[in-house]
Amino acid sequence: MYKNSIKILGAYGTKAKGFGTTSFMLNRHTVIDAGNLLDALAEDSLHIENIYLTHSHLDHISDIAYIIDNYFCKRSKTLNIIGLPQTIQALKEHFLNDIIWPDFSKIPLENSDVIAVKYSELYLNEEYHLDKQTTLTPVRTDHTVPSCGYIYKVNNAGVLITADTFSLENIINTVNNDMQIKSLVVECSFSSNMQTLAEVSKHLTPKLLFQALKKLKRDDITLYINHIKPSCLEEISTEIEAFRGNFKPIILKDGDFITF
Ligand SMILES: [Zn+2]
Ligand SMILES: [Zn+2]
Repeated sequence: MYKNSIKILGAYGTKAKGFGTTSFMLNRHTVIDAGNLLDALAEDSLHIENIYLTHSHLDHISDIAYIIDNYFCKRSKTLNIIGLPQTIQALKEHFLNDIIWPDFSKIPLENSDVIAVKYSELYLNEEYHLDKQTTLTPVRTDHTVPSCGYIYKVNNAGVLITADTFSLENIINTVNNDMQIKSLVVECSFSSNMQTLAEVSKHLTPKLLFQALKKLKRDDITLYINHIKPSCLEEISTEIEAFRGNFKPIILKDGDFITF
């Protein structure tokens, strides 16, 4: 895997046979969102140490439960779960809470003295270094729960991943003002005749997406689309073709790579 690439472990907005939910692999140890780790990575999931979350919805966090459970006896490193303070709070209260699933932040690993899970909070618009050349910056998005997208940069070239959002205003301003961003991964969950559902659940349709993208002032951006609900895939793909204008969007599938 090249350093300036991201592997799509799960490209879709919900789980179905043959369709994984949202997860992006940045390197052997680090992912954004944990919708589809085990199926995509198999034994290599053992090496995941850092999960950066966009928000607390199940399709983005579900494999946290299984990655830690399945490889508990083999792991020797803590699994770091990193996200906005409200996202971390939601996981502690509603997910790994000793009711839905064990609170692994209290349990040491069998193989070493370290704790199984550790939480870290991050803050919007602050740049976090993964290593000398690589940064991750959370940016505000617009969803039904507190949420963020991420700008991922390697050697000053980057991609912005929106994750779930309704408004693209902040995202488009960010891309217009940061010429180092070369690619945009944007969600499109529902077909355009489901606009009411998209509005209340704060997601996009092809019509809304390409309306919003009219404010993008850059013509050098590679546009990727993810988080399609698999049951709408055919209809959404046809609509993207109808609404795309001059854009040449690439619809992501599980296993694809983004290079930038
Ligand atoms: Zn989602
Ligand atoms: Zn969501």
